[in-house]
Amino acid sequence: MNESRPPTAEGQLAFLRSLQRLLDEGNFTSSYKFALLHAIADLCLIRGDDSGAELVLSTAEIAEQFVRLYWPQAVPYPAGDNERILSQNTGRQALVVRELAERHNRYEGSLVELERSRSDWGELRRKVEQTVRKMPLWKLQTVGSERLEFLYENVDTGASVRLQPGVAYCFRVFYPMVTDVIEGAWSHFVQRLNPQLLGQVVDLRSFLFGSQRTSLATYRPLLRAVQRGRCFYCESDIKSGGDVDHFIPWRRYSLDLGHNFVLAHRACNSSKSDLLAAEQHLERWTERNRTARDELEQGFDERRVLHDWPATRRIARWAYGQVHRAGGQVWVQANELRPLSGDWRRILSTLDHEAA
Ligand SMILES: [Zn+2]
Repeated sequence: MNESRPPTAEGQLAFLRSLQRLLDEGNFTSSYKFALLHAIADLCLIRGDDSGAELVLSTAEIAEQFVRLYWPQAVPYPAGDNERILSQNTGRQALVVRELAERHNRYEGSLVELERSRSDWGELRRKVEQTVRKMPLWKLQTVGSERLEFLYENVDTGASVRLQPGVAYCFRVFYPMVTDVIEGAWSHFVQRLNPQLLGQVVDLRSFLFGSQRTSLATYRPLLRAVQRGRCFYCESDIKSGGDVDHFIPWRRYSLDLGHNFVLAHRACNSSKSDLLAAEQHLERWTERNRTARDELEQGFDERRVLHDWPATRRIARWAYGQVHRAGGQVWVQANELRPLSGDWRRILSTLDHEAA
């Protein structure tokens, strides 16, 4: 079992083919199956590795990812007079959406507040977990009369699934492409279910999967204090304003956890664009998050921003590992790029000795 190795090129292609068949031919009566696929892909990044090994995921973990995915979607779609929450099920509204919508009101849209209310959060997680087990988990891999069990074995019971060897590897390698396809299919599905509300609407996808709608500007004072008024990248003063930037670019992984935000000049931010930042920036980022961790986390809590430093750096490790494997380049400054060296490994691995 420990003799795992990455899947062959044929194995990777077979994975993509099966995934495509699932999305093309699967029978979707609610959006749960999309959420399940997305949640599994996310967990492969957060918990998996690149060895090609199996990966066991609990239904509790999957349920938590469900909540993260559906939370921004459980608010009324802004469509003038008849705004309401988009239907995610062919029949009655999906239970997960109903449960979340109720809590949106109770906690004024703050997932952080919800997570703090131990008992309500626990109850929600239990309900979502039951839904995951009852609805999509053992039905996801059924295509017509055929069973396409390429992700995990359908044992039809239990509180976990065991991803087959190579599955976590493939989700990690193809993460941006795979989640793009899942989100696209999910958006089409929701559009079909809500024709009277959406018509030929253009921006549904950014409503469903866009960055958090609370303005990033709320973090500006906090980041400004921690960075002593300097641009995170070029380290010269920011006269006024400044952009709040996703250090691990949004395009690669929609990481809205607090430690991922830095304050930068608009020009520095826009030339970095969707690239990963070079090693010296990575070093400064880990250093900032380590030394100012208390100050940052207190500030995040006050602003009701989700944060999880261990998960954030695992995602960083994944992102740099993927670019390294592909022989890709990183951003230094302005238009200057250079190949990523192996140094990122040292920078991100020194963190392993810290307490989580
Ligand atoms: Zn700058």
